[in-house]
Amino acid sequence: MTTDSLPCSVCAAPIRLLPQGWQDGDPLYCEAHQVLQGRDPRLVVPDAIKAAEDDLLGMEPLIEWCLPCLTEMLGYLLRGTVTYGCAFPKNGKTAFLSNNLAFWDAHGVRVWVMPTESRPKGLITRLAAFRAGVSAEEAMSKRLRVRADHGDEDAKAQMVALMREFQAMQQSVETDGCNIAIEPAPRLTRAIFKQSCHAAAAGGYDLVVVDHVDHIGGDASKGESGYSASEAVQYDALEFAETYDVAVLLMSQLNTSRVANDPLFRYKRPITDWVWMKGVKDQIAATMFGIYRPMQADLDDKLLHAVRTGEAESWKVAQPNTMGIASMLSRFNGSRPDRTLALGYQDGVVRDRDHADALADYASSHGIWTGGPSERPRRRVA
Ligand SMILES: [Zn+2]
Repeated sequence: MTTDSLPCSVCAAPIRLLPQGWQDGDPLYCEAHQVLQGRDPRLVVPDAIKAAEDDLLGMEPLIEWCLPCLTEMLGYLLRGTVTYGCAFPKNGKTAFLSNNLAFWDAHGVRVWVMPTESRPKGLITRLAAFRAGVSAEEAMSKRLRVRADHGDEDAKAQMVALMREFQAMQQSVETDGCNIAIEPAPRLTRAIFKQSCHAAAAGGYDLVVVDHVDHIGGDASKGESGYSASEAVQYDALEFAETYDVAVLLMSQLNTSRVANDPLFRYKRPITDWVWMKGVKDQIAATMFGIYRPMQADLDDKLLHAVRTGEAESWKVAQPNTMGIASMLSRFNGSRPDRTLALGYQDGVVRDRDHADALADYASSHGIWTGGPSERPRRRVA
């Protein structure tokens, strides 16, 4: 193999990688060397080695989750990869995100958020409410304001705390710039999603969060169908992550038809089969996890039946103050999918429980009986 380049007798371009078995001067020879151009292993392989070294030794800070036990189970949010966080609607996605956004902000991770379910003011209210320890739902529904106006001292104090938080955020934007950026477009199409990604890269953001990605629809004016646009967006996200070396977190909804058939599904450990567009997301995800409310073990059959038939409210079967995180797919931790974590969850804040607690929760959510043999119930729920 020659290392010097020769000119092509058809197009005169210098050729480094010679097409084998083609006659110089033949237009097909010209076509063949052009196909080889840019694929020369003497260029591609050293480039890949350099990139692999940079990846391994890069000084870019690692992006952690808000709790060490989460990072331990799910791994870091790696640059250049896509992570999916999946949940049924109203099953903890927003609370999980609020906790992590506040953590990332406090640790200097620059996050670009695309909220598809709320306007920027909604996200800001949630963040401020989280930091002030106020219920965002109380604030956004105006109940807090009405209570304060009627002289409720507690509500007044919460209003003051919330307003103080808004002012602090305003001040930090003016002095330190903005660690959290919010895409202002009210409705995301594939084109706006790509623009927003490019803006995030241009602004030097570390992590792009989409809540949630299944809301990115087709552009009807261009005759784009919702499904194909949504499918394309998943690939766009991976291409963006890899090209700009940004971490991408896509929140996604579990298929609600499961809940329609059986309300108890909401309280079971999510599996990839429940993910909408599972085939595509399986290919793209480096990590996929589910957020859910674990069910109590040893529930009364009568209650379960009543929940199934709609006579009892389904939340009664949930473990109180618990958020379950299930590892559903992990490209770099092949031996550890199927792990779950029970986090304490109270007043909007997730907490790691002490080891003993976590073990007991694990046992109870997996139907493992930890009591004495004589107290063992006759039937348990899987
Ligand atoms: Zn040529």
